[in-house]
Parts: sequence; C-alpha cells; structure tokens
Amino acid sequence: MASTLIGTVALVTGASSGIGAATARRLAEQGAAVALVARRKDCLDTLVADIEQAGGTALAVGADITDRGQAEAAVQQTVEQLGRLDILVNNAGLMLLGPVVGADPEEWDRMIAVNVQGLLYTTHAALPHLLQAAEEDPRRVADIVNISSIAGRVAWNGYGVYNATKFGVNGFTESLRQEVTRRHVRVGVLEPGGVDTELGSHNKPEIRKEMIDPFNEQTEVLAAEVLAAEDIADGVTYMVTRPRHTAISELWIMPTDQA
Ligand code: NDP
Repeated sequence: MASTLIGTVALVTGASSGIGAATARRLAEQGAAVALVARRKDCLDTLVADIEQAGGTALAVGADITDRGQAEAAVQQTVEQLGRLDILVNNAGLMLLGPVVGADPEEWDRMIAVNVQGLLYTTHAALPHLLQAAEEDPRRVADIVNISSIAGRVAWNGYGVYNATKFGVNGFTESLRQEVTRRHVRVGVLEPGGVDTELGSHNKPEIRKEMIDPFNEQTEVLAAEVLAAEDIADGVTYMVTRPRHTAISELWIMPTDQA
C-alpha cells in the first residue's frame, strides 16, 4: 500500500520548469509541503500560487545551487520555514551537447557545476535533516531521488560531458545508497528518456539544428508518445510513496517509441 506524504516536507531543485515543476505539483498533491528551488524566482512564485490555490503548501527559494553557500542556504531556509526535510529531489540540470573536439570548456564547467557539484552540495546540506526525519514520524523513512538520464546508462557521440555528469550521478547515487540505506534514507536514481521540456533550448543554434531538432522532428510525428514532465513526476511520486521497507534504487522511464 502506498504511504501518504501528509506531514512531510520535500525540496525539489530545478522546480521553475519542466520535470521539477511537475514533480513539485505532484508531491504537493500527495500532501507534502514543497520547497521550490531554482534561479528564476518569478517562475517559482507563480508555481507557489498555483499549488496554494489547489490547497497545497509551497515555498519559493531562489538559489543558484552551483554556489555552495546558496545550496546550503536553500536547505536551511526550507527547514527553518517548513520545519523539517523528508524528501530531496535533485532535479536541476543542464544539457549542452556537441563534439569534444573544438568544444568550449566553459560549457563543460557549467554542466559539471549544476549536474554534479550542485547535486553534491544540496545533498550534503540536506543529509543531516533527512537522517533526522528518517527517525521520526510520520514515516520514519526519508528519500533522495536523483534525476539522472538514459544518458547515465548509455553514451552517445556528441553527448560526452553530459554523459560524464549523468554517469557520475548514477555512481554517486549507488555509493550513497549503500552508506545510508540502513539508516532508512532511501537513495534512488530516476533515468528518463526523452521528455518534452526546455532542456534542449539552451544549446547553440547550430547544435540544436544538428542534434536536437532532428530528434524533435521525429518526436513531433510521434507526439502522443513523447514523455511529458508529469510522467517523470509520477515516477518520483511512486519512488517516495513506497512502504518503509521498500526502496526503489533505480527507475528507468522511456517513451515507448524511443529505442
Ligand atoms: P528544464 O530545462 O525545463 O529544467 C531545468 C531546471 O534546472 C530549471 O528549473 C532550471 O531553473 C534549473 N537549474 C538550472 N541551473 C540551475 C542552477 N544553477 N541552480 C538552480 N537551478 C538550476 O529541463 P528538464 O525539466 O528536462 O530537466 C530536469 C532534469 O531532467 C535535468 O537534470 C535533466 O538532465 C534531466 N533529464 C531530462 C530529460 C529530457 O528529455 N528533458 C531526459 C533525461 C533527463 P532556473 O533556470 O530557473 O535556475
């Protein structure tokens, strides 16, 4: 039987759009008070209003998680204003594609900073609170869900550094799972295939034309089969509502038509 999230607090990074925003809505529907973390505070404020209108509780926390001090402050503000922390969804991410030969290493730095370092900083700051929540009612279990990617399982030409960050997230997730699972902090990774979000829009026009638009053209034809952010939000919700003795360590969600 699924557990309820009433009385819990969740923090979702990258909640200003796409998968993070959908996940925040779903967790709030399940009864969690949700802290929304991202840089675009205006988007977070709008989402807070939507969640509150639907009867939920949410808090907008504007922060750049690549700055360790801001990541720590976001966790601190969540605990101070919402009272505790039971669930961390490390979702914020950036995907800048292209060949390694001739690449701008500044793009690599940005991806590594958000996909890896930001996730590490937020996790490190959250762990003491999650360990405490795992000893307390209402659930006596806590959760970390790291949003990785199919690119954390399979490498492709042109995805090199994005692949590196997501393979890194998978390795860190499994290591941390082994470290804290007996203290009832469940640590799992969710690996989406193609999802209709803003993710590809940050690439240079030539890269979009070559690597992203062909994919979009193909998936537009198959529009009904492309994953929506809500499909991934459902997966996160499934992972964090299992009974206390059940931990979902890995969940790979693909569009049916993506081979
Ligand atoms: P979006 O671009 O819509 O969302 C990315 C989110 O990350 C935004 O809310 C953005 O908010 C936030 N973010 C980026 N940089 C920072 C930062 N420095 N500090 C805080 N927040 C930051 O894309 P998706 O929803 O698709 O991406 C969510 C996750 O899903 C990513 O980790 C991505 O790698 C993963 N994923 C996505 C897939 C897809 O096909 N869409 C497939 C597989 C995995 P803001 O700009 O306001 O800071």
